[in-house]
Amino acid sequence: MELIDVPLIDLHEDISLYYMTASVLNPFPLEPFDMDTRYRHADIPKYRRANTRMVVGAVFPGLPWYSNGRITFKHYPKMDIVLEHLKLYRMLIRSHKELVMVTNYSVLQDLVYANNFKVGIMLGLEGADPIYDVNDLELLYDLGLRVLGLTWNYNNRYAASCKSKVDSGLTREGVKLIEKALELGVAVDLAHASRNTVEEVYYLTKKPIIVSHANARHICNVDRNLGDKTLEIISSSKGVIGITFIEPFVSKSRRASIEDLIKHIMYIKDNYGVDIISIGSDYFGSLNLNIVTGLETIDKINALWKTLLEQGLSKHDIRKIAYENALRALKNWIK
Ligand SMILES: [Zn+2]
Repeated sequence: MELIDVPLIDLHEDISLYYMTASVLNPFPLEPFDMDTRYRHADIPKYRRANTRMVVGAVFPGLPWYSNGRITFKHYPKMDIVLEHLKLYRMLIRSHKELVMVTNYSVLQDLVYANNFKVGIMLGLEGADPIYDVNDLELLYDLGLRVLGLTWNYNNRYAASCKSKVDSGLTREGVKLIEKALELGVAVDLAHASRNTVEEVYYLTKKPIIVSHANARHICNVDRNLGDKTLEIISSSKGVIGITFIEPFVSKSRRASIEDLIKHIMYIKDNYGVDIISIGSDYFGSLNLNIVTGLETIDKINALWKTLLEQGLSKHDIRKIAYENALRALKNWIK
């Protein structure tokens, strides 16, 4: 297979969740991150083969849970848990010379264009629920946080989520939190947010709207995917949608393949242009859901690039999807 060697930015991976839930929800063994662990979605050797240059390391506050006879997951949005995740990322980065924490745009840019391989990790909080007031965001910023997801699947005091029955958009506290994010240089991530939330954040900030991990509702009609109106806003804002590899967001009916995933990419490209497409795999965050067949681990990403070339995309289009679009969007938020 022809190797399309482009740097990759992945806008969403739950690396700390994998270590903190001790493989309860991810079936592969719990091993150090520099080992090429079989079946593990990602690790340093696989990043090297995929030419991954930056990953947004998500902080998802939750605990393994037991319900109706099966092991599941409980959303537990407490600041203590957030701090444990941040510590874990810090220790992970400190333990491996190939990893770097990304706290400003010039570090990110250097990583993407460098000849030598290093992977940047940018810390992102998935859901602002644990933030008590805007000063907490300032503390988290000092600990390295640069991406703020406003909601997970529940409404919180800042915004309505994609699962809300009544879409009330941003709250007054949400506006204050976003103003603080703008002041600090923290990128707001609207994955899991409602349509009105997305629209109001755009009007408030006029920044590129980032939805780190989702697909197109037109192809797979689930709450977590984006409808046409939201895609239009992303397009007007010159933002990005990170295409996600989680099976239920790719196809409802059967085992999802790379061809099924391509349908989302082609739909978005044909209607809104290639400039809003990037990658947000959600590796390690799939809990007990499947990943698209053929992309089970990040080092298989070349198969995606190859299929896109066969669909008529150019190498330049692939560079945009792999890293250029994400860089452009982040540059507008991060200092
Ligand atoms: Zn998520």
